[in-house]
Amino acid sequence: MEFIDYMQAHGHQQLAVWTDAEAGVKSFIAIHDTTLGPALGGTRIWRHPTDEAAIMDVLRLSRAMTYKSAAAGLPLGGGKGLIVADPRKDKTEAMLRSYGRFVESLGGRYITTEDVGATGQDMEWIAKETSHVVGLPQSAGGSGNPAVVTGFGVYQAMRACAEDVWGSDSLEGRTVAMQGFGNVATSLAGYLVAAGARLVITDIDAGARERAAAIEGVTLVEPDAIYDVECDIFAPCALGGVLNERSVPKLRCAIVCGAANNQMATDQDDNRLAARGILYAPDFIANAGGVINVYYEYAGDYQEAAAMEKAGNIYATTKQVIALSRERGITTAEAADAVAEARLTAAHA
Ligand code: NAD
Repeated sequence: MEFIDYMQAHGHQQLAVWTDAEAGVKSFIAIHDTTLGPALGGTRIWRHPTDEAAIMDVLRLSRAMTYKSAAAGLPLGGGKGLIVADPRKDKTEAMLRSYGRFVESLGGRYITTEDVGATGQDMEWIAKETSHVVGLPQSAGGSGNPAVVTGFGVYQAMRACAEDVWGSDSLEGRTVAMQGFGNVATSLAGYLVAAGARLVITDIDAGARERAAAIEGVTLVEPDAIYDVECDIFAPCALGGVLNERSVPKLRCAIVCGAANNQMATDQDDNRLAARGILYAPDFIANAGGVINVYYEYAGDYQEAAAMEKAGNIYATTKQVIALSRERGITTAEAADAVAEARLTAAHA
């Protein structure tokens, strides 16, 4: 019952559950809002410690997708899928195809794509059972890895923040501390290095650390040490909940801007950042490049150049959010919500 009250209080339309013992599937799909269009959002494959934690995660992520697409100006609603499994050892074709039948059962109200723990191969298996999937590999006629455009979008948000804080959007000579060096961080790092920024990187995965070590001039640190790094920009590019009462007091940066979804552990953490004078680029504004990219696949005739051009607008949206936060005396996270809500309210009307 707790969940139902939570859903009602936060505007959630639907939470669907699918189990399949034979295929080893326990999964959830949360559809938050379909006012602007079908609910599009990735499928996360992750073993949460409890079902309650998994449900809360998928609900929060689905709502973030509504806000992300609304703020990015896309005709899409917000949804998210979650398969409770260890992505390194539990995945099978039978599991993903069973989950694909779950997606199909929702009749297009939910469109899935990749998220943490999922791969292009997984999307191909899902696509054997449903057409409501985007982010397929280019070899299968899809738009390929969305992280390329996501990284570009995060870079645009960083430039907009830099312009606000230092009066210039150049990142030359700036130090960026990156938490996580996966798909998006790899794309982002390319833009940062080209712009002349210095990188400090951590990752819990040895392979990712090895890839990061190949970047000229990079400094690698232990995962727990990343919050203490003296830098200009802290970029959370791993999982959510990393901005919290323990981490925020440690940060030694002027800007927080990264790719991770739901970076704040609680609703109070944006106030914690603001109180410390740290400018926060709201996560769903900065990381909208991924959904922008798959939207162009969903709309048909995918062109990376068109997706990149639209993701370039993240610079202007970030500036709009910062200006609104100043004008209304609210945090940037609140201003980002206001930008998305204004669009939803107009559509409702
Ligand atoms: P990924 O799985 O490729 O990379 C995440 C990396 O973070 C991995 O290398 C992992 O080892 C590392 N990591 C996990 N926990 C860590 C910790 N505590 N400390 C340091 N490193 C840690 O994922 P990705 O596609 O690069 O996405 C990164 C984040 O951005 C996720 O939160 C994702 O939801 C979000 N995001 C991704 C996209 C996209 O296009 N892929 C779009 C929007 C948002």
